[in-house]
Amino acid sequence: MVDFTISDETRLLVETVGKFVKAELQPLESEVEEQSRVPPDKLKVVKAKAQALGLYALNMPAEVGGGGLATVDMCLVEEEFGKTSDPLIRRTFGQVYEMLMACKGEQRAKYLLPTVKGDRICCMAITEPGAGSDAQAISTTAVRDGNSWVLNGRKHFISDGDIADYAIVMALTDKDKRARGGITLFIVDKGTPGFSVGRVQHMMGHHGYGHAELVFENCRIGADQVMGEVGDGFRTMFGTVSKVRLGHIGARSVGMASRVLELCRHQANERKQFGKPIGDYQMIQKMLADMATEIYATRSMVLNAAWEVDQGRDPRDKVSMVKLYASEMMGRVADRGIQIFGGMGFSTEMPLERIYRDSRVLRIYDGTSEIHRMLIARSVLKNGFVL
Ligand SMILES: Cc1cc2nc3c(=O)[nH]c(=O)nc-3n(C[C@H](O)[C@H](O)[C@H](O)COP(=O)(O)OP(=O)(O)OC[C@H]3O[C@@H](n4cnc5c(N)ncnc54)[C@H](O)[C@@H]3O)c2cc1C
Repeated sequence: MVDFTISDETRLLVETVGKFVKAELQPLESEVEEQSRVPPDKLKVVKAKAQALGLYALNMPAEVGGGGLATVDMCLVEEEFGKTSDPLIRRTFGQVYEMLMACKGEQRAKYLLPTVKGDRICCMAITEPGAGSDAQAISTTAVRDGNSWVLNGRKHFISDGDIADYAIVMALTDKDKRARGGITLFIVDKGTPGFSVGRVQHMMGHHGYGHAELVFENCRIGADQVMGEVGDGFRTMFGTVSKVRLGHIGARSVGMASRVLELCRHQANERKQFGKPIGDYQMIQKMLADMATEIYATRSMVLNAAWEVDQGRDPRDKVSMVKLYASEMMGRVADRGIQIFGGMGFSTEMPLERIYRDSRVLRIYDGTSEIHRMLIARSVLKNGFVL
């Protein structure tokens, strides 16, 4: 039995977010793209409005000042987020990692609460030049020295690494144990001696926020900067991954693809060639029908898996399927969108080419398509296909 009934309160929230995205954020998209940043004066205005409406850090629990939404409700909100670009979502509604709930003692007041409030920005540093999909192959080390830890190593591709006030850094504390008790998370403040930002790495899409190298050279931090427990970093880091994948990848893809379909619907009705709207041609109709069907399939998958999470289950295989299918669906939808618009789709006068570029990374981060296929296949081989 699956029940997706949502409260009037959630319905109102989703409508509010949808209207906000359309009225306040979509008009800024081209400027963000051109400047490769959210213009600070405009950011100040939209962020303040979002905060006044209670739309910041909606994914976080209410007891720390977040929205306290159930996973299904958060996914419905994420669909609306998906109708604008990533830098605008991050800066306006907050990129607050659920994992921050592992903060304890004074870390809560120093990191968790101000981040939920929007006063501090956090980045999450796992990936290294030599360790991507195989995250436990990291070579950044942290060595205990009295009441402190000394970090050495280099991270790359770290979203917001250039501007973050602090980084959550995954480091090896026991080379032999690695993911099984040998990886620990550390909170490292910007400005700590030995911690520096390296190159900002230019990307094909997601212009408007930075991806940076982080360098640790004999960076000494206090023992109170350990996040969670020593040796438990892998579990803490990936423990909240299901919710993140369903929201950020699954539901946002549904929103982004719905926006593309809506643009295409108008174009198919309005654009005339050979004396008829192009929507009269069956080849265009096939593309529209396939887009609508795949969006519906993705949405059903997202909400089903989200509902299971809300029932206290951890449907990891299904979340892998959602991540895989949603990201690949988004690629197909963005591609068809450009085809339906022809030359206009390829031009920067329409948001489609940006969406096409931005959506490409969905198949790469948060586990590549190949890694998720591998996980799904392993599980099927071992346990059979469990619905
Ligand atoms: C825009 C962007 C933002 C990012 N933000 C962050 C961030 O904030 N923090 C962070 O830590 N990281 C971040 N990353 C890094 C991201 O998590 C990695 O790029 C991702 O995990 C893939 O690792 P990789 O790039 O090293 O590719 P690799 O792991 O080297 O993979 C290369 C290819 O090999 C394939 N492959 C690898 N292993 C297998 C296998 N066993 N079987 C079959 N195929 C395999 C992959 O699927 C892929 O096709 C970001 C990346 C991008 C592009």
